[in-house]
Amino acid sequence: MDITQSLFTHNPDGVFSLDLEGYFSSANLATTTLTGLAPDDLIGIHYSRFVEPEYQACTDEAYARAKLGEPVRYETQIVDARGERHVLDVTNIPMMLDEQVVGVYGIAKDITHRKQQETRLHILQRSIEVSLNGIVIVDAQAPDLPVLYANPPFLRITGYDMEEVMGHNCRFLQGPDTDPQTVAKLRHGIEHHREVRVTLRNYHKEGTPFWNDLYISPIRDGNGCVTHFVGVMHDISEHKTNEARLAYYASHDALTGLPHRTLLEERLAHDYQLTLRNASLLAVLYIDLDDFKPINDSLGFGVGDKTLKVVARRLESLITPGDTLARVGGNEFVMLLPGLNDEDQVWGMAERALTLLATPYVIGTDEIYMTASIGIATNQEAVKQPVELIRRADMAMHHAKRMGRNTYHWFTHDTTGSTMNERVVLRRELHEAIQQQQFTLYYQPLVAAESGQTIGFEALIRWQHPVHGVISPAVFIPLAEQTGQIIKIGQWVMEQACHDLAMINASLGSDYTVAINISPLQFRRDGFLASIRQALEATNLAPHLLEIEITEGVLMEHTEAAVETLHSLRNMGMCVALDDFGTGFSSLSYLRRLPIKKVKIDRSFVKDVTTRRHDAAIAQGVITMSHHLDLQVVAEGIETQEQLNFLTEQKCDLFQGYLLARPMPLEKLKEYLHLNAQSPPAPPA
Ligand code: C2E
Ligand code: CA
Ligand code: CA
Repeated sequence: MDITQSLFTHNPDGVFSLDLEGYFSSANLATTTLTGLAPDDLIGIHYSRFVEPEYQACTDEAYARAKLGEPVRYETQIVDARGERHVLDVTNIPMMLDEQVVGVYGIAKDITHRKQQETRLHILQRSIEVSLNGIVIVDAQAPDLPVLYANPPFLRITGYDMEEVMGHNCRFLQGPDTDPQTVAKLRHGIEHHREVRVTLRNYHKEGTPFWNDLYISPIRDGNGCVTHFVGVMHDISEHKTNEARLAYYASHDALTGLPHRTLLEERLAHDYQLTLRNASLLAVLYIDLDDFKPINDSLGFGVGDKTLKVVARRLESLITPGDTLARVGGNEFVMLLPGLNDEDQVWGMAERALTLLATPYVIGTDEIYMTASIGIATNQEAVKQPVELIRRADMAMHHAKRMGRNTYHWFTHDTTGSTMNERVVLRRELHEAIQQQQFTLYYQPLVAAESGQTIGFEALIRWQHPVHGVISPAVFIPLAEQTGQIIKIGQWVMEQACHDLAMINASLGSDYTVAINISPLQFRRDGFLASIRQALEATNLAPHLLEIEITEGVLMEHTEAAVETLHSLRNMGMCVALDDFGTGFSSLSYLRRLPIKKVKIDRSFVKDVTTRRHDAAIAQGVITMSHHLDLQVVAEGIETQEQLNFLTEQKCDLFQGYLLARPMPLEKLKEYLHLNAQSPPAPPA
């Protein structure tokens, strides 16, 4: 076999010849793979039988040119006898014999595979170009990984031109806020030829930062060597902003901007730890709006939402930095108050919150009236978990609802707690009592021993409770003293007593006296004297008809100032009596130095004067010595004739007690005085 023969037979490409009509005249073995027919079977078949219709024209043209003596190379597509498609790279060469073209040689290379790859690459390239993601390809084998390719989105996102990018390392995208740890992670992936995915802060050419969600993958050649890295980037700044917004809204309420329960619980845990360390008081207030639902139902959600915003702002105005106000439900708020000194501050806050929330809400043209119920829990009672405090405050809030709303309730387990709760309720109700004037004055006559005549009366306050009926001052006065509410109450007593007395004296033409009880707090307050003067002037009452009853407690603190006030009272022409005498510290010799005119022997001594020798002796001693000091002696709480007889014997000056007359309302007092004036009682036997 000569060389030409060998080239023909063993050529890996299809080699064949066509006659001048286009029929196969010879074909090698490789042609079989292309046409699906053995060389012998191919002879005599026309080439166009295999050519795809779209390629017919260009194939015919190439064949025609070859017949004219011109070698031609072209691409065509055929379908073989098995129906398989092939892309062929064909070269046609004229077959010359004696300067004459006698046929056409053909060499056909099967380029189907290469073509497919080319198309795929083309599609890939197109898709990279039109991708929304920025794509960058860097040379893994050149030092410092220079950029070989960057698609248009990469240029758009980063703001650079192709020339500015090509040949440079991508670190030009980093800036002051790029996290070095993330960059390290990226480098580590590249060094170890691994895929990496990071989110990092990158910078636009202009300097504006953006969040880059970057995915980097190594590209390996046929031998598994990493030749390139492709980076796919995605600007997720918008997503990041949304994420941040989501994170905020996960912890904050969208409507009011207040923290949610999660954040509340975090802060509570923190505050709780802190108060444990510095042993201060931590209070949790659970605030629930009363009757909020009807507002939503009748006025619509818009108005409801606006109202809630106002509620939030009002509550916010009450707290100080370090406190937390959270919205934990539709119309439920929780206040954390860490670092308090005493319960009074908690009461004060609850009181202020109730008052503020009860102020009408003006929303557009609507005026809305709404109150709130508050539950209180503090760290005074131990809890296992700080959140327990929220639960307790919640329970207490429901209790407050049951108590009739617009009030607060203090969570407690035990009975000591229940007195605390009673206090809370009482305090709250006292507040209302003052505003709604639920108080009245009863008057108890004082009778002169010598004449048996009533010379005056003591004003004793009564609380006409709308539910519980008449409540004794022994119950609420001590509390009112603690809370300071006694000031308002005392002021009212003074004015009312002066008013009633002036009216009685005017109508009867008498000059009865009225004694009012003054609490230590009231007595010590600046303006006490001024308020008395004012009450006297307003009713045109002679000062000597108004008596002041104080207890030893008044003298115990700030003695100098108290003594000064006593002098002023005497200078004004008023009479001061020392109440409950014998129960405190005072010695009679001490009293001598004070401008006091009367002592009232305490009921507890009077009670047993006839049965216990010891009490009789005290009463006797007090009366004798008082007279020695020019003090009048009043015996109060006389219930039996025996007591009266004994005290009369001892030359007590004035009597007061159920035996003679009970405290009575003004109307009854008028009747009593009327009768008394007509038929004075017989002097005691
Ligand atoms: P007090 O000043 O010692 O008033 C006398 C109390 O003894 C009154 O009780 C009176 O009702 C009661 N009492 C009078 N006679 C008898 C009797 O024969 N037997 C018995 N067992 N009790 C008798 P009340 O009205 O309950 O007042 C209790 C205390 O409340 C008063 O004691 C006084 O300390 C205080 N209080 C009453 N009204 C006022 C007020 O307007 N202002 C202030 N700051 N305290 C007041
Ligand atoms: Ca009294
Ligand atoms: Ca008394």
